[in-house]
Amino acid sequence: MKEKNCDVLVLGGGGAGLVAGVRAAEAGKKVTVLEKAGFFGGGMLFASTMRIFKSKWQAERNIPDQSVKFMREMMDLTMWQLDAELVKRAIYSTGEFFDWYSEHETKENMAKYEPRPYVFDIPVNGQVCPQVDKFHNGSGKLFVNAMLSYGKELGVEFLLEHSAKKAVKEGEKIKGIVADTPDGEVLFAFDKLIIASGSWIKNDEIMKKVLPAFLDADVEKNAHQNPAYTGEGITIGEELGAMIDWDSMCLRIMGPLAATGDRSNLDNLAHAEQIILVNEEGNRFVAEPMAPRIDPFSTGHVLLRQPHARSFYVYSKDMLEKIIDSTRENAAKEDTDIFGMPPLPDYEVIYGWMKDAQDKNQAWCAIGDTLNEAAKKIGINPDNLKATIEKYNLCCDKGEDTEFFKASENLIPLKEGPYFIVAGKLSTDGAFGGLRADKNMNVYKADGKSVFDNIYVCGDIASGRHIVDGNVKKQVLNDMSWAVASGFIAGTEAGK
Ligand SMILES: Cc1cc2nc3c(=O)[nH]c(=O)nc-3n(C[C@H](O)[C@H](O)[C@H](O)COP(=O)(O)OP(=O)(O)OC[C@H]3O[C@@H](n4cnc5c(N)ncnc54)[C@H](O)[C@@H]3O)c2cc1C
Repeated sequence: MKEKNCDVLVLGGGGAGLVAGVRAAEAGKKVTVLEKAGFFGGGMLFASTMRIFKSKWQAERNIPDQSVKFMREMMDLTMWQLDAELVKRAIYSTGEFFDWYSEHETKENMAKYEPRPYVFDIPVNGQVCPQVDKFHNGSGKLFVNAMLSYGKELGVEFLLEHSAKKAVKEGEKIKGIVADTPDGEVLFAFDKLIIASGSWIKNDEIMKKVLPAFLDADVEKNAHQNPAYTGEGITIGEELGAMIDWDSMCLRIMGPLAATGDRSNLDNLAHAEQIILVNEEGNRFVAEPMAPRIDPFSTGHVLLRQPHARSFYVYSKDMLEKIIDSTRENAAKEDTDIFGMPPLPDYEVIYGWMKDAQDKNQAWCAIGDTLNEAAKKIGINPDNLKATIEKYNLCCDKGEDTEFFKASENLIPLKEGPYFIVAGKLSTDGAFGGLRADKNMNVYKADGKSVFDNIYVCGDIASGRHIVDGNVKKQVLNDMSWAVASGFIAGTEAGK
């Protein structure tokens, strides 16, 4: 087998791996980055909204620093189960990374940054940070391009279509990593290894251990399910004798959603407090509407307990008209909440959206003069649905939802057709955790007590910034900030 060697080998040329590799190269190391896909950047190409702390960019704009309050609150959120030294270093590294990146970014791109909190911190007046917030065209792509051009200047060897496959050992000594390349298998020997292969959502064996129900679920296709996310970082870690931190491995799942793509017209309607939601068997399973009440990053787990994780919003003409009326009073409020209810258009317009979807044979929408007809078209058990609606109508008549405790003012019976059924979507925003890191992003050995001094991990696959509570990820730092901060730390350490 052909052999190559380098000082620092990076597995994965996405957000974290590029930062780590370029940072190590800046310290004079000979760096090779192996990227499985035909392009660099991974999920980072799509990321846009972030948190950073203590950067010069913020100081120059007199933006007050909230890092102490933030760390305290995030450590409370994660019940002080995380290594506070790692959390602190990662949070400070967000700003260090940004200042370093700024030195290698063009003036034109730097001018695109505007001061705004991370999108989910807007309601709590969180830390103001630099944002380039165009969806799918934000700072993630800028980071990737800047790393590639600075890395080329530094002589980093960036290799596309090089998929790291397995570790080769001679006794206890690690000989290197074998990768599938366009020239066949190559053994890459190294002094230091940085594992940055991202999510493992496309590895069914891992998924069976972490969240088996996901494998049977009807899940929206999106960039978080990149076919490259096959989890070699975990299997190679295991071969090297690393601790696989199964308790930290999780998926973040959201739903039911109507928020994106083809169904987005119906997003506001799906948040109406009066709607009813059933599963594929035609049964209700929650007090509707679930997503606006519960953290939307947790609701997917409620949905996942339903058959195939499928869910359907059911409306009748009379219910729809009452929902539309109820939103008209919001006109003056300029409701801008993501779960808000701005005024809905007339019934005929909404009917038109649904009719249009049905006529285009969209599997997510069905209209029927009877419930039975609509249920059959969309694939819900019609008899159960009929029984469910009869029971629901009785609750409405009594003014008390004795099954799922919905607020009585939101109980509207479904009595007059046509009936409309719209499927909600289950979505994911990634799979996280795997190899536990210390504050230098050194990987823990299987004993969980000591670390390898020449193996590092960063990005989505690195554990240390989140806990898993009832399958739900609770984190101290958002994903792209963790990716660049942990990559910056790993690269700095590997460069020493
Ligand atoms: C659509 C989308 C929007 C997002 N928006 C945001 C946002 O606004 N804010 C935020 O905080 N986060 C966001 N994220 C998350 C953020 O992009 C990720 O957390 C970040 O990219 C993680 O960096 P990473 O290097 O660990 O993974 P990635 O950037 O995905 O890179 C991993 C790389 O490893 C490669 N790889 C995998 N296996 C191998 C192998 N065996 N050999 C070689 N290479 C391999 C992959 O092909 C990939 O290029 C978003 C993600 C997506 C997909």
